[in-house]
Amino acid sequence: MVTATAPIGVLGGTFDPIHFGHLRLAQEVAEKLRLDHVRFVPSGTPPHRAAPDVSAAHRLAMVRLAIGDNRLFTVDDRETRRDGPGYTVDTLGELRREVGATRAICLLLGADAFLDLATWSRWHELFRLAHVVVAHRPGYPVNIWQDRMPQPLAREYASRTMQQPLAVHLAPAGGIVVIAIAALDISATLIRDCVRSGASPRYLLPDSVLDYIQAKGLYVG
Ligand code: ATP
Repeated sequence: MVTATAPIGVLGGTFDPIHFGHLRLAQEVAEKLRLDHVRFVPSGTPPHRAAPDVSAAHRLAMVRLAIGDNRLFTVDDRETRRDGPGYTVDTLGELRREVGATRAICLLLGADAFLDLATWSRWHELFRLAHVVVAHRPGYPVNIWQDRMPQPLAREYASRTMQQPLAVHLAPAGGIVVIAIAALDISATLIRDCVRSGASPRYLLPDSVLDYIQAKGLYVG
């Protein structure tokens, strides 16, 4: 089956704050997989980790500033409006109902996030709802990365990996694709640490986001 319209990409994250690592990931995967667009989905209260440093409203505002007028990108604020923990599987379930059964959805993940996948709520269901697209990330080299996969995830990886990335156009969900992207060793942690120590995180994230951080006095305490 060939899906009727181009696949939709979904990039979830805390975006605390958003940076060029996120933006290059979305841009390169959108181009290489010929996605219709990538939706940035900032988390509300993330279930897998400690609470973000700044509110969902600030993180959402920074994502909006960062994507600017890029026509390949949109913001989806549904998780920031949800009470309690937001699970990716619920977000993808809602999106699947909205776009219909045949349109391909691609869940974009960095290699670090993929290695954690088997700890996510109802993670097996993710493959019924979307393809999983794994992008290289510095610190997670793919040759040793495969040895670090827990067994249940390694089984899914072995049976679902598609060698041809554009195969995501041929089915609505269920595949795993690994994509090499520009290696940017940038993390939100690094940016928060920079601001806290009085160093400038300039050139690690868009100026518009940095201006917002400074205007609101974020990450200083
Ligand atoms: P933190 O340092 O606070 O843990 P982070 O920089 O990892 O944050 P997240 O919002 O947790 O950012 O990441 C959202 C998604 O983007 C995850 O799938 C993550 O793997 C991916 N990602 C983040 N930074 C990069 C990067 N530099 N290269 C590739 N993928 C990245």
